[in-house]
Amino acid sequence: MWGRFRDRGQGHNDHDAPPSDPYEAERANMVETQLAARHIRDERVLDAMCRVPRHAFIPEANRDHAYEDHPIEIGGGQTISQPYMVALMTQLLQVKPNDHVLEIGTGSGYQTAVLCMLARRVTSIERIASLADKAATTLRALECHNAEVRVGDGSIGCYEEAPYNAILVTAAAPSVPAALRDQLADHGRLVCPVGSRDLQHLVRVVRRGNEFVEDESVKCVFVPLIGEDGWPG
Ligand code: SAH
Repeated sequence: MWGRFRDRGQGHNDHDAPPSDPYEAERANMVETQLAARHIRDERVLDAMCRVPRHAFIPEANRDHAYEDHPIEIGGGQTISQPYMVALMTQLLQVKPNDHVLEIGTGSGYQTAVLCMLARRVTSIERIASLADKAATTLRALECHNAEVRVGDGSIGCYEEAPYNAILVTAAAPSVPAALRDQLADHGRLVCPVGSRDLQHLVRVVRRGNEFVEDESVKCVFVPLIGEDGWPG
């Protein structure tokens, strides 16, 4: 997976060189100035974000803004998160190579792709079918074969595949959804923006047996998690 990005510049001649990526320099610059310079220290996260072509997840009209330091609209009133927020949440999640990760709020699929680089398997749930279809198509085109995108209400998780080593919610919840806590494996980590509809904090929950240890990170603003254990639609 991603071989054509990893091997860039190492072709023996013009014929077997991988197709050039016009955004490669911008992406490297994003990682240095927006992530490494702001205390993203996890090398696996930095490497993943160096390799995933963020522009491929952004509608054509906005593609030239793909590597800027802010969220971008992706249609349906939804957004792809700011690169720094993707990096911070991924770092807090402490994903290991053998992990099965559950993501709630596929959106464009960009965060899904970053998780795919770090985990064995990613199950991602999106409530808007058109976004889920588009994300699944992009992920397939990028040969991201360890991702599965499902349509549904992710606020209640996905019991049939549980438990998960890590759960990432990329929409804002009024409180950490109980079903998601329940679906965490022992030593599993869950990261979720929690607060009002307008302003949240990133909350991380770590499961130790039947104990759940919570800590709080930065303030953030996400679109609402709409569903049974989220906000009413
Ligand atoms: N991680 C995404 C950005 C997510 S924006 C990216 O990288 O592009 C939040 C997404 O959560 C939106 O697409 C929204 O439709 C979705 N969402 C909101 N409530 C949901 C729910 N209950 N279940 C699944 N998806 C939900």
